[in-house]
Amino acid sequence: MTQTKVLISGAGVAGAALAHFLHHDGFDVTVVERTPGLRGSGYAVDFRGDAFDVLAEMGILDEIQGHDTKMRGTTLIDTEGTAVGQLPAEAFAGELEVPKPELTRILHRVTEPDVLYIFDDSITTLTQHPDHITVEFERGAPRDVDLVIGADGLFSKVRRLAFGPHEACLRHLGMSGVGFTTDNILGLAHSGVLQQVGTTAVYAFAAADTARMSVSLSFATDAPTLDRRPRSEQEQAVRTAFTGRKWVVPQLLDAMATADDFYFSSSTQVHLNSWSRGRVALIGDAGYCAAPTAGMGTSQALIGARSLARHLTASNGDHTAAFAAYEAELRPYIEANQQTGREGAAAFGARTE
Ligand SMILES: Cc1cc2nc3c(=O)[nH]c(=O)nc-3n(C[C@H](O)[C@H](O)[C@H](O)COP(=O)(O)OP(=O)(O)OC[C@H]3O[C@@H](n4cnc5c(N)ncnc54)[C@H](O)[C@@H]3O)c2cc1C
Repeated sequence: MTQTKVLISGAGVAGAALAHFLHHDGFDVTVVERTPGLRGSGYAVDFRGDAFDVLAEMGILDEIQGHDTKMRGTTLIDTEGTAVGQLPAEAFAGELEVPKPELTRILHRVTEPDVLYIFDDSITTLTQHPDHITVEFERGAPRDVDLVIGADGLFSKVRRLAFGPHEACLRHLGMSGVGFTTDNILGLAHSGVLQQVGTTAVYAFAAADTARMSVSLSFATDAPTLDRRPRSEQEQAVRTAFTGRKWVVPQLLDAMATADDFYFSSSTQVHLNSWSRGRVALIGDAGYCAAPTAGMGTSQALIGARSLARHLTASNGDHTAAFAAYEAELRPYIEANQQTGREGAAAFGARTE
């Protein structure tokens, strides 16, 4: 019997986990990733609920648990910088939190021997035929495959090619933020601090590397397009939102300007009536991002990957049935997480409609 050829766009958590399960079940898997190499960026990701079962099935639960950041909790800070309360570790770290680069490295290591990874390339066109799809790339030669899976994140290229423009399915939750690392000027050790003033919040924590701390500066905004603007405009929006703030905020704004790991992101959800079109399907943030305020992105990516792989295997080549079963199984879980994401943004004071 010929192997079903699957092309996955995106070597993030969803793409690597799906590659693992599909290869295990006898599929011929290729992953194309836009970046030139494995992404070493990111701070900490957390796991909740059934995600632990997925890690165990992949045989990496113990190793992942070995990278537990061991966060102890978060201190609430008032406008002047005085500690006024304490949040438990689970508030930000879920049931288990690990540095994102460690997760990425482990997922790649366990899949790399069996899966063809093509870095520094991206899909440019998808042409669906009755019995296959022709895929064209920015650099590589065209390929004919049986299925294409978009695991390429919030601004998925596969989604844009097969489902339509980003604007039709992205829902901005009215809040954005920047993240970066800087010297640990607060002396944090496996702990965090949170200062919320109006509709702005400073969150900083230090975990595995206590010489550095990760900082996030979040603010309510009605400007969803900031995500795709130059860094200078994004920094200006942050400075405007945090004007006049005391405590260490001025130092953090200075550190933001020189950070080489600066990233800007908005609390944005993906809403689609269907997660598949013909021979193309979506997983992870590409299909159903619940926004960082849900804290479920990594768990959804893992659970979605396992679900899709199971249904593709069980359907014996009937991808239409597999995609429908995957969606029927996962939708209630995703909708609950997206509700949590909206509530998180609303609690922050953001406009969620
Ligand atoms: C500020 C912030 C805080 C977060 N906090 C948490 C948290 O507390 N807990 C949690 O669980 N999750 C959190 N997340 C979310 C989490 O990081 C993601 O939701 C999760 O990793 C989803 O994985 P994914 O594989 O679907 O997408 P991604 O991790 O986005 O991976 C997509 C991959 O596709 C690649 N790609 C993109 N475009 C193309 C293209 N055209 N061609 C080929 N490849 C492409 C990307 O380079 C990337 O490697 C947070 C996210 C942000 C932004």
